Amino acid sequence: MIIAVDGPTASGKGTIARALARHFGLPHLDTGLLYRAVGWQVMANGGDPDAPADALAATGFADSLLADPVLRSESIGALASRVSVHGVVRDALLARQRSFAMQPGGAVLDGRDIGTVIVPQAHAKLYVTASVAARALRRYLEMQARGEHVSRAGIEADLAARDARDSERSVAPLRQAEGAALLDTSALPPEAAIAAAIALVEKQLGQTRI
Ligand code: C5P
Repeated sequence: MIIAVDGPTASGKGTIARALARHFGLPHLDTGLLYRAVGWQVMANGGDPDAPADALAATGFADSLLADPVLRSESIGALASRVSVHGVVRDALLARQRSFAMQPGGAVLDGRDIGTVIVPQAHAKLYVTASVAARALRRYLEMQARGEHVSRAGIEADLAARDARDSERSVAPLRQAEGAALLDTSALPPEAAIAAAIALVEKQLGQTRI
């Protein structure tokens, strides 16, 4: 059983994907972490994130990096968005994501192109979104809780820039996959968003022969 969850930053897709994995007893891969690791590694190499060759060289990051909380920062998220526009980087990360998805028993993957490129044949697909204002507020509260002092307007501008880069790039742009159920979490607390996601997936699984 393969479940694909796509959507923009701070839409709630990560929380939802983790909850789906728990609910259905499946392993979960947060594919954004792979691009974040490339973003971190390109800087560690002293490379240019906008240069395809430098970004490609950074795809050789150590697996242990994926567990490092350093990848969670906004600045690494922005770097990830820059390296992810390069087709060579996406190609280099493709086999790893596909083999995770195709493991016996299945998996839940979340990202930007899971239902469109990585596993278009997924048994269930969700496109999780929320308004820029709702997403910026969530990010603001998270950052405040971590003691980071940032302006809400600044976060909103960064999110809008990241959305534009992710959806306007020529390779694997962020968009709702064919057959994906739309879930707008703008007005939903996490528990309600998770319950809605489980119901949407169950409905799709009922329509698909596994
Ligand atoms: O989801 P997260 O914020 O961790 O992703 C960081 C960046 O990695 C995104 O803004 C996007 O540019 C890129 N990404 C991608 N394809 C994926 C997952 C993430 O291009 N499947």
